[in-house]
Amino acid sequence: LHGWQRNQSRPIRTSSKAMTTIPAWVIDQYGNNDVLRFTNNATFPIINYPNEVIVKVFAAGLNPLDISMRGGYGSATMAMKRDPLNIKQTGSEFPLILGRDVSGVIMECGLDVKYFRERDEVWAAIPPWKQGSLAEFVVLSANEISHKPKSISHTQAAAIPYVATTAWSALVNTGGLSKDNCANKRILILGGSGGVGTFAIQMLKAWGAHVTVTCSHNAERFVKGLGADHVVDYTAGPVEGPLSALEKFDLVLDNIGGDTEQWALGLLKPWTGAKYVTLVTPFLRNTDQLGVADGMLQTAATVATKTIKVTLDYLMIHYQHFCKNTQLSSVFLQHLVKGVHYRWGFFAPSGPALDEIGKMVDAGQIRAVVEETFSFSQVPQAFEKLEKGHARGKTVSYQA
Ligand code: NDP
Repeated sequence: LHGWQRNQSRPIRTSSKAMTTIPAWVIDQYGNNDVLRFTNNATFPIINYPNEVIVKVFAAGLNPLDISMRGGYGSATMAMKRDPLNIKQTGSEFPLILGRDVSGVIMECGLDVKYFRERDEVWAAIPPWKQGSLAEFVVLSANEISHKPKSISHTQAAAIPYVATTAWSALVNTGGLSKDNCANKRILILGGSGGVGTFAIQMLKAWGAHVTVTCSHNAERFVKGLGADHVVDYTAGPVEGPLSALEKFDLVLDNIGGDTEQWALGLLKPWTGAKYVTLVTPFLRNTDQLGVADGMLQTAATVATKTIKVTLDYLMIHYQHFCKNTQLSSVFLQHLVKGVHYRWGFFAPSGPALDEIGKMVDAGQIRAVVEETFSFSQVPQAFEKLEKGHARGKTVSYQA
């Protein structure tokens, strides 16, 4: 890795013309940690569209998605995004660079880029179909980047974008929450100690919500330190019982999946538009197993089935309430048409969302929760750490 280490002392170059290759961690096939390969000869990224920028990476954040993508998860959908006309050969994505979070400095701007300039410090969450941040440079669209909060380092900044834009997409875009409507709302986060949970707790507390969290016993003090009002220990037994004994919730954010959706709907306040939003969805798995077209059909069928099932569950839960109502059929139809408050949440790259999040960081409302940092030469060890699970915040690789 001497070549890489020498690179660290170089000043940021303002033109890419002289450079053709860069240091990066790449994979040439899907598999376990053995497929990670360091190279000094990755292709220098180029600006293909006038709204793109080249960013020099100072720090890269890792997420469970990187482990999954290393193993091939989502490869069918990503192939379609990269090559919609299906012209290229299978495997044309290799050498593939992982890493979804970046904090760094703009080295070069496309001709249409207006709000950013060379040498601006920026942060971003990188869409999974693009080359990632485990490299010296990465290309991004200007609408995916945002000015890095001034109050935190690049290493801290790289811990935030992917989980923050995921939580923002799930809670704001899908869940309908905002800083103006959260006061006195009761929110339940299933799985509060990982990357998404630690960010979501802080954002919701900054907006005035009451936040209940499930996590393991040894994370209780940690999530309370981030602002959680009430904690339920899932290692002490099934959480459904203790959660059912609490006042009902306006929104459940599910970071755990599995059988949680069987009972979590019953924890919501009835007839208030309360929502269950899960981040654990079978969407990419379906397209990997069935191909893009059939996978999407299967996904649509799954959503429809769940929607109907959840609606019926919901109505069964409140059957007695219905029976008291003399206009039973019209109430039934009204609520069937109104929706079932069951939603899938997805990561959505967004510079504007990061602008808002950056303001909250600089205002001291949100702090980066970096569990462990690794130098760029230790990227395989960072993957090993991530793969062990039991995250308490984020894993970051720094380069400068
Ligand atoms: P992390 O691995 O960072 O965190 C998961 C956390 O959950 C860990 O702290 C773990 O700690 C805890 N945990 C595990 N089991 C339970 C349980 N039964 N009850 C409560 N807590 C539990 O993951 P992220 O926060 O980054 O992501 C969360 C989920 O969201 C993942 O499944 C991820 O794939 C998904 N996701 C989906 C996205 C989408 O676009 N749909 C985008 C981003 C994430 P411990 O085991 O010690 O309890």
